[in-house]
Amino acid sequence: MKGDREKDVVYVSLKSALMEEGCPICLLVSKRRDQWIETLFYELITSSETRKKLRERGFCTHHLWYILEYLEENLGIDGLGISIILHDLLSTSIELLEGMSVPEKRSECLLCSIIEEYERDYLNSLAEWITTQEFMKLFSEGDSVFCLPHLAALLREIDGKHKLAILKIQLEKMKGILERLELFINKSDYRYLGDLKGEEAKARYLASQVLGGMDL
Ligand SMILES: [Zn+2]
Ligand SMILES: [Zn+2]
Repeated sequence: MKGDREKDVVYVSLKSALMEEGCPICLLVSKRRDQWIETLFYELITSSETRKKLRERGFCTHHLWYILEYLEENLGIDGLGISIILHDLLSTSIELLEGMSVPEKRSECLLCSIIEEYERDYLNSLAEWITTQEFMKLFSEGDSVFCLPHLAALLREIDGKHKLAILKIQLEKMKGILERLELFINKSDYRYLGDLKGEEAKARYLASQVLGGMDL
């Protein structure tokens, strides 16, 4: 069971994510993922337990590159966090190789499982609250639109009547994005191209996000 405070934080963040553009679950999970990376950075320096876990689990290719880029852009001015991660992963591989065992490419890593956990948490809470009038109104009036993977996961948790209501709103939003794309595809008057560039990029970004979700 979650504590009340934690529940409040999830409640408030879900409500505000429903107002924002894009998939609310992707948005919240991506924020938590980045927070996790920041915590990891500090724990790498202070906790031998974290370094041990990191050595055991390692990172999948996708997350290794994501973490390195994130640290470099946000925290890695001195490169310390990056160096510690690479040192630990490399020395673990050397030990394995010396023991004649060739490390395999990892398909699921520590961060993969943490992201799955965050997704489950937010989806469960949203499934509980989205059927309320307040949440339904926020979804209907806000700029959010679910990505298809999270829509499917959410609908699995919801009863028939509310499922239909959510689908109706989602469909309207998806058709809105489709119309925005069509506007650019059919546009014959290029005088407006300059003004519409930003809007076009946004419509393309939203369409891609709906189709596949954010790259978590
Ligand atoms: Zn999503
Ligand atoms: Zn991973």
